[in-house]
Amino acid sequence: MQRPAPTERIIERLPAPLRELARPHVPLGTLTTLGIGGSAAVLCPIRNAEQAQRFQAFCGESSTPLTILGGGSNILADDAGFPGLVLQMSDERLEFRGDLLTVGSGASFDEMIRRSLEAGLTGLEFASGIPGTVGGAMVGNAGCYGHQIGDFLVEAHVLREDGRLETVGPEYFGFEYRRTRLQGSGDILLGVSLRLSRGDLAAATASRDEKIADRRRKHPINEPCAGSWFKNLPPAEPGGRRRAAGVLLEEVGAKKMTVGGAAVFARHANIIVNRGDATSADVLTLADRMKSAVSERFGVVLEPEVKYLCPPAT
Ligand SMILES: Cc1cc2nc3c(=O)[nH]c(=O)nc-3n(C[C@H](O)[C@H](O)[C@H](O)COP(=O)(O)OP(=O)(O)OC[C@H]3O[C@@H](n4cnc5c(N)ncnc54)[C@H](O)[C@@H]3O)c2cc1C
Repeated sequence: MQRPAPTERIIERLPAPLRELARPHVPLGTLTTLGIGGSAAVLCPIRNAEQAQRFQAFCGESSTPLTILGGGSNILADDAGFPGLVLQMSDERLEFRGDLLTVGSGASFDEMIRRSLEAGLTGLEFASGIPGTVGGAMVGNAGCYGHQIGDFLVEAHVLREDGRLETVGPEYFGFEYRRTRLQGSGDILLGVSLRLSRGDLAAATASRDEKIADRRRKHPINEPCAGSWFKNLPPAEPGGRRRAAGVLLEEVGAKKMTVGGAAVFARHANIIVNRGDATSADVLTLADRMKSAVSERFGVVLEPEVKYLCPPAT
């Protein structure tokens, strides 16, 4: 296996128009809401399909590791950083046609919801306050309060791992609870069209305010975190509700668990916070303890929702 190219070598080999976009040695802690992680060798914000295609081709030809970052709100980045190219979608275009919303994957997810309501379109208010980008939300099928964003997708523009640009429908994503086929596939999501509705705007706006207030009560405000660490559990019987992982974690005393600078949030047993100086190893050890405690007591294996960004195995 080839050794990862250092920053300067990557930048030197990039074709001139792409080189202008490259930012060397960017700490991943500044790009993720947990505030942890070593440096990305090279960070490139990209605006369009052509740039994405050219970076993807470059990485293939030069064996440079490639990863995609949205708002970094569902990621634990390793202290070793990432020895390749980190692409960050910066296409924030947003356009309404009738009840169809077309939006670039780099747009802020919550800002998209706010602007939809401003345009008189309802449906997405349930997800108000979820941090990150449209791309991250679609790829992870973000959701809450029993709803998920995948239900609104009409079509998406995707740069496939093999370099083809395609327009695909919901079946391509295979939406499941916090899961889609795009995760880990190497595909880059460029933009989506979502079908909204002209419902009761006053009720939708009130619901948005309520959801944001609820998040302020339940989630950390000053401590960096990445949202719920583990996925909720499948329903006990078909058609039932998912069981909150946080309830089992609370029962095993997770709220008192700490490792180094990482701690379980005092008001939510399924959230890990960075108390200021947490390392990725602290967080991984803590998550492991939480998982083991639940497995020992309940015989249930928790699955992480947060993605771990680390150097590729050599
Ligand atoms: C306080 C807080 C509350 C949260 N509440 C919720 C909640 O209620 N429900 C919920 O579902 N999540 C929640 N989250 C988690 C997180 O905000 C969501 O998962 C969000 O949708 C992630 O988007 P992102 O842009 O930050 O993605 P990132 O964290 O940057 O990336 C997540 C994954 O998506 C991939 N990805 C991102 N963009 C693209 C793209 N354009 N193409 C291909 N792959 C891409 C990345 O490679 C990575 O694997 C919460 C997080 C926090 C911090």
